[in-house]
Amino acid sequence: MFMPGSVAERFRSVTMLRSLDESPRTVCSSNGMLNQVGTDEGGMGGETSVQKVIIIGSGCAGLTSAIYAARADLKPVVLDGYEPGGQLGLTTMVENFPGFPDGILGPELIENTRKQAQRFGAEFRSGAVTSVDLSRRPFKIVAGKETYESETLIVASGASARMLGIESEKHLLGHGVSTCATCDGFFFRGKEIAVVGGGDTAMEEATFLTKFASRVTLIHRRNEFRATRIMLDRARANPKIVFMTPYAVQEIHDMDKKSVEVVTLRNTETNATSKISVAGVFVAIGHDPNTKLFKGQLNMDDNGYLITHEGSKTNVEGVFAAGDVQDHHYRQAVTAAGSGCMAAIDAEKFLTAHKI
Ligand code: NAP
Repeated sequence: MFMPGSVAERFRSVTMLRSLDESPRTVCSSNGMLNQVGTDEGGMGGETSVQKVIIIGSGCAGLTSAIYAARADLKPVVLDGYEPGGQLGLTTMVENFPGFPDGILGPELIENTRKQAQRFGAEFRSGAVTSVDLSRRPFKIVAGKETYESETLIVASGASARMLGIESEKHLLGHGVSTCATCDGFFFRGKEIAVVGGGDTAMEEATFLTKFASRVTLIHRRNEFRATRIMLDRARANPKIVFMTPYAVQEIHDMDKKSVEVVTLRNTETNATSKISVAGVFVAIGHDPNTKLFKGQLNMDDNGYLITHEGSKTNVEGVFAAGDVQDHHYRQAVTAAGSGCMAAIDAEKFLTAHKI
């Protein structure tokens, strides 16, 4: 079953402490020294040092970019973002990342990768980016009161899983509540579980989870489905999947025991409530890529994912994208890490070609 969340909690408090400790008024200059950059409070009189590589996001993709860029002596500056560590920072045991025969806790994997990048000279800055200007080089990146300039930019801001928004879901995330069937399905061998959602992701995850679970209850708030016909039919034809519509999840129990045991459902037409016993709840109601900042500057598909070509290139020369922000298909830690590596190599090639 799921591991206790103490490491995840510890990671979050470490990150919080880090945010408080570090002065947001310092950045790493291209010679590796810590310099202040121009701020609206004066600082160094508006003087800014131009970085070679700035990486937005510190999940698996951003951190791998940082390792590669740092080892290429590009002294990358990583801007942590709202969710330092990305999705791995919110999960417990990761069993499918190569090189860990016994698995590794997500926050530990992130912390190790972060240290690995720091060892080669990557600098980390807390705070979320509030705006970017990619109209000319050096690009301008504003994070709160700080303005950074950089010759290249790697966007690894990830995608956030949509959540139901109920308190118990937050408490039980990593303790029976999951947003990733590929990552966590294995823990539910022989158990009864629920999947929430009515789109292709929900159908895909429910079907995948029948490999492990003895029974999957698919809960959707409407009688109509957003899922494509083929995916819906496949799920309907699976004898292990039971459909419950039109139901919304009202509460997941048991917060006190830190494990999922029962789910209270509300019929969205009659408001009548009922309960089902399950050992896990997979929330599969979609993801939102963190790309609002780049609207009008970087090309995106209809769902807001960045469009890349020839590896990690975006439509703006010198701007590269890696990880879930440009991948709604694989969404795995190892594919994010791989694309982070690609982005750093592409950035290095760009800098060399431009003799920077
Ligand atoms: P989606 O199509 O946006 O569906 C999200 C589902 O979650 C909808 O059924 C929605 O209900 C429900 N939902 C949203 N917010 C909710 C809430 N707060 N409470 C309860 N239910 C909620 O997202 P997706 O399934 O992740 O698919 C995204 C895109 O990826 C789609 O274009 C899809 O075709 C594609 N995709 C393709 C594949 C494949 O081809 N193998 C696999 C996965 C995804 P309502 O319908 O009532 O709004």
